[in-house]
Amino acid sequence: MKLDIAIVGCGLSGLAAALLLHRQRHAVTLYERFEAPRPVGSGLMVQPTGLAVLAALGLAEATVANGAPVDALLGLNTEGEPVLEAEYRHLAIPGAFGLGIHRASLFGVLYRAVQAAGIAIATGHEVAGSAAEGDKRRLDFADGTRSPAHDLVIDAAGLGSRLVPKFDHWLPYGALWATIDWPANGPFQRRLLEQRYARAEQMVGLLPLAEGRAAFFWSLKGDDYPRWQDRGLDSWRNDVCALWPECEQLAGQFTDPAQLTFARYAHRTTKASVGERIVHIGDAWHAASPQLGQGANMALLDAYALALALAMERSGDLDTAFAHFLKLRLGHVRLYQWMTWWFTPPFQSDSPWPAIFRDHFMAPGSRIPPGPRLKAATLSGLAGSPLAKLGLAPPDYESLAASASSTSVRASSLPQS
Ligand SMILES: Cc1cc2nc3c(=O)[nH]c(=O)nc-3n(C[C@H](O)[C@H](O)[C@H](O)COP(=O)(O)OP(=O)(O)OC[C@H]3O[C@@H](n4cnc5c(N)ncnc54)[C@H](O)[C@@H]3O)c2cc1C
Repeated sequence: MKLDIAIVGCGLSGLAAALLLHRQRHAVTLYERFEAPRPVGSGLMVQPTGLAVLAALGLAEATVANGAPVDALLGLNTEGEPVLEAEYRHLAIPGAFGLGIHRASLFGVLYRAVQAAGIAIATGHEVAGSAAEGDKRRLDFADGTRSPAHDLVIDAAGLGSRLVPKFDHWLPYGALWATIDWPANGPFQRRLLEQRYARAEQMVGLLPLAEGRAAFFWSLKGDDYPRWQDRGLDSWRNDVCALWPECEQLAGQFTDPAQLTFARYAHRTTKASVGERIVHIGDAWHAASPQLGQGANMALLDAYALALALAMERSGDLDTAFAHFLKLRLGHVRLYQWMTWWFTPPFQSDSPWPAIFRDHFMAPGSRIPPGPRLKAATLSGLAGSPLAKLGLAPPDYESLAASASSTSVRASSLPQS
C-alpha cells in the first residue's frame, strides 16, 4: 500500500518517521509550526535504543560524531554517598555507551537527511485540529486554512500537540537548562553524567556534549521560577556551589539569566493513541520527566515501529497496521511511563521521604546483583526488550567508537562505595 501521509511536527519523531516512510515510497509531507524548523533546548542522552533506530536509518556514525560518549551516570547526595550509579558496561552489548548530544546536533543530523531525501516540508503551518472525511483526513491550520486530504495523519507535535485532548499534567518540578563550555582542566570527568542532590529538593547536573561543551541543569519548581528570576544570579550561584563546590569552576560562565531556559516537565499518556486515520507518536502520545532520559529515544522507537507496522500490513487496512504498531510499542511505553512516574519523586520532590527511601533502601539495594545490570538496562531504555520486538540489532558500539569525538577519554570506572 502506498499512502499519502501528513506528519505534524518536525521534531525528532516526525523527522525519523518521515525518512522511514519516504524510504518505503509513501508520499510524505511534514507540517511544522515554525517558519524554520528548529530544535528547542540544550542536551539530551541518546541511548542504545535511539541509536539502534538511527543506525537503521544509516545515521549512527553521524550522530556519534556529533556527541560525547558517556560511560555512566553518577549521582551523589550531600554526604558524598553515591545514590544513583548506572554503568553501560553492565549491558551485554560490547563497548556500549550513552551519547550526550546537543539537541541542535541530533536535529541537524535528521533534518539534513530529510532535506537530502527531498521530503516536502510545509513550514509556518500551525496545526490546530484535524477531521476525518470519508477515507481521508485533513488538517486544520491556526490561520483558518486546511490541508489537502491525506490517507494518514501522524501526530508528532510533541507535548504541545493540539490533536490530543488538552491536558494539565504538569509536574511541580522542571529544570533550568543551559549549554556551557566544558571547564578545561576542571574536576569533572569527561565520560560521566554527574548529578548532586540535596534530598530531592535540589539537584544539579552536568552532561558532557561534543566539541568542549556541556549541558548544565538545575532542578527548579515551576512556581519558584518567577522568584528565581527576581533573585538575581549571584545568590543562585551560591546555592549551586554550596551543593556542588566544584561548580565554582563553571559558575562564572553564568552572567545573564537569559542563558538559562526553564523547561517544565509533564507526565501524561494519551489514552487514544490511534484513531480514525490518525496516530500519535513521541511526546504527543507519552511524555514524562527526563529523569530517566528516555523521551527522545522512545520517540525514535515509535517512529520505527509505526513504519514497520505499515510495511507489514500489505492489504492497506490502517486499523490492522495500528494494532501491529501498538503491539510493538505499548508494553515498552507503559513500562517506562510507570518507571518514570515512580523514579521522579526520589529526585524531585518537596517531601523528605522519597529521598530517604532513595538513600537508605533504593541505592544500597540496587548494588546487590542483579541490581547493576537492571540499572544499566533501565538507563539504556532496553528494559522490556524493545529492540527485539522491532527486529533491531543493538548498535555496533565497537565500530562506532571510532566516530566518537577524539577529545573523549574513557573513564576508568565509578568510584566504588
Ligand atoms: C529539559 C529536557 C531534557 C530532556 N532530556 C532528554 C534526554 O536526556 N533523553 C531523552 O531521550 N529525552 C529527553 N527529553 C525528552 C525529549 O526531548 C522528548 O521526549 C522528545 O523531544 C520528543 O520528541 P517528539 O518528536 O515527540 O517532539 P518534539 O521533539 O517536541 O517535536 C515536536 C515538533 O512539533 C512541532 N509542533 C508542535 N506543535 C505544533 C503544531 N500545533 N503544529 C505544527 N507543528 C507543531 C514543534 O515545533 C516541534 O518541531 C528531555 C526533555 C526536556 C524538556
